[in-house]
Formats: sequence, structure tokens, C-alpha cells
Amino acid sequence: MTTITKIEIILLSLPFAQPFKIALAVMDSAKHIIIRVHDSDGLVGVGEGVPARFVTGEAPETAFEAAKLYAGLLVGKNPLEIEARLSELERFMLKNPAVRCAFDIALYDLLAKHANLPLYALLGGAKKVIHSNRTIGMDTPEAMAITARRHVENGVTALKVKVGTDRDEDIARIRSIRLSVSPSAPRIRLDANQAWDEITALNILTALEEYDVEVCEQPLPYWDFDGLKRLRARSPIAIMADESIFDAHDAFRLAQMGAVDFFNIKLAKSAGLRGALRINTIGAAAGIQCMLGGMSETRIGVSAGAHLICACSNITLYDLDSPFHFNEDPVAGGVDFQPNGTVTLTDAPGHGADLKPEWIEKSEKAIICDN
Ligand code: MG
Repeated sequence: MTTITKIEIILLSLPFAQPFKIALAVMDSAKHIIIRVHDSDGLVGVGEGVPARFVTGEAPETAFEAAKLYAGLLVGKNPLEIEARLSELERFMLKNPAVRCAFDIALYDLLAKHANLPLYALLGGAKKVIHSNRTIGMDTPEAMAITARRHVENGVTALKVKVGTDRDEDIARIRSIRLSVSPSAPRIRLDANQAWDEITALNILTALEEYDVEVCEQPLPYWDFDGLKRLRARSPIAIMADESIFDAHDAFRLAQMGAVDFFNIKLAKSAGLRGALRINTIGAAAGIQCMLGGMSETRIGVSAGAHLICACSNITLYDLDSPFHFNEDPVAGGVDFQPNGTVTLTDAPGHGADLKPEWIEKSEKAIICDN
């Protein structure tokens, strides 16, 4: 029997190239949990999860400690029985979705390497080129319009625009962006990150109708499922749940209520690929298409997401551009990412990405062994 012999837990710290402002916070760096699962056949599975205090309720420090506890549960066991292993993690300690995501991706990566298949093929998918949106952080309307025009000149076909300060400024942001790019392209998506109340959201979305906005992500606080349902019934712009949806239970409830038009799946919320597949299945059954988004993953997490997209035809919107937050790329292998948002997969076994040795060497880490 194949067993897990060793698990490396790495706390990877990466500064942002420039501060990124959303309604919930201004971010200038990210700390990522990287998990490397070694097995008795000499293979290594690699995963990533990005704890986000204000979304997943995890801080890097708590995530690092939680990872040690989870790793202790896994060593000595068969890593190929993914359902059993992830169920054990889930039952052992609630929540901690970003940490469990890192283990989940590592186990899927390992399984695909045992099958000698790229992850998309293990999941039953076919390789395709993915066109991600590019995300524009909150700034003045003028500065955001300049960024938008630069992206469109680079060939970007969809923009995700962060909003959520006050009504007039938010409307001015979208107006100036739409006017600065050609009216037929690109697609414009909004993300309010829970900033509005129901009345404000309806007011703003009604005012934005003329600017051809594809969808508005999380206009209301994460807990307000009833508000989302009422807003969706009156808004001229489609509504997407992000912070309101973590797992299949949220997906089922939102679908049953008819509360939203889209789900935003993030592996750090769904505790990885297993949870993401469940959400997507509920979405597909309910006629709700999904976006695959992210926190601020390196190309490890983004590679896992890209492989998932290739296996899920109901995931139709792609927000994978987080590697552009960073000046440095600590990852070898995995997807290729171009400034125009084009993501290209490789046929290496698994998702193909791993930390470069020098980053493993210089990062804070813990090693849990089978003994
Ligand atoms: Mg969002």
C-alpha cells in the first residue's frame, strides 16, 4: 500500500508589486500555505491555500498551526483514498477551508501523478486555452480607466472591477472605465465585496444599467441571502455570490432560494477541488453557471484551478490573474500566464507546479514525518 511518509508545510510570504484595494481591505502582501505530501513510492503532491482573514476566518499564523494538526492525521495513511482522507480532515476540525484546500490540491496532484495523467485528464476534462479576466483594484475613476485601457490594448477581453466606497464614486468608476474602452468590448464585471446595503445596491445597479455590466459580485454582506434574493428580482444586472458561498451546503441553499445568477467558486473557500466539484454540480443542476476565482494564489493554486476549469463545462467565467500581484514568481512548472489573461496548461502529470527549491529553502516551514 502506498503511504504518506512526510508532509512539508511551508509558509510562503510574497509582497505585492503594488497595494491592491478592495472594499474589505488594502492588501500589500500575501502569505500562502504550501503543502508538499511525500509518499512511499517517491512521488510528491503539491498544494496551496491562501488564508484570508476577512473571508475565510484564517490568519497565516493560525493556518500554519492548523496545518500541523491536519498533517499529523494524514501521515502513515494511503494518500490515494482522497475521499476518506479529506473527510477525516473535515471531521477533525471545522472550517479552515484554505488550509484544507492546500492538502486537497496536494492529494489530487499526487493521485494524478500516480495515474501519470495531467490533472484535467484525471478529472475527465479536455485541455483548453483559458482567457482570464484582469482585475482592477479600487482607485480614482480616472486611474482605473487608464488601467482598463491598458489592459484592453493588451488584448484583455474581460475586466473585473473592484468597487464599494460610495454611490457616486462607484458609478463614476464604471462610467469612466466603460467610456475609456470601446463600447462593444471588453466585458465588465463588478465586485463590491459586501460593501453595499440592499437599497444602495439597487440604486447603483439601476444607474449602471446603461454601461453594459455583465454581473455584480457580492453586492451585500455575506450573510444576507434574503437580501440577495430580493435584489436579484429587481436588479437590471445579474448577481453573483462570492463571500456568501463556501461549500455545497451554501450552494444548495442559494440555488433553492433562487438568490443569485452565478456562483464564484474559490478553492480557498471550498476547501479545494473536492468541494469545488460539488458546488459546480449543484450549480449545473440548478442552471447556475460558475466563476472560478481566487484569493491571491501563486501559479500553484492557479494551475489547480485551470485544470478544474478544463473538467467543468459549467464553469464559464475565469478570474485567475492573481500571479500578477507579485513581482517575483516562486513557482516552477504549471500554467503559463500572459498579460492579456491567456492561461495555457501543460501536459505534465498532476497540475505540474511546484515551489522553486530556493523558495522552499528560505521560507518558514514545518515537517511532519511518519514514525
Ligand atoms: Mg469577489
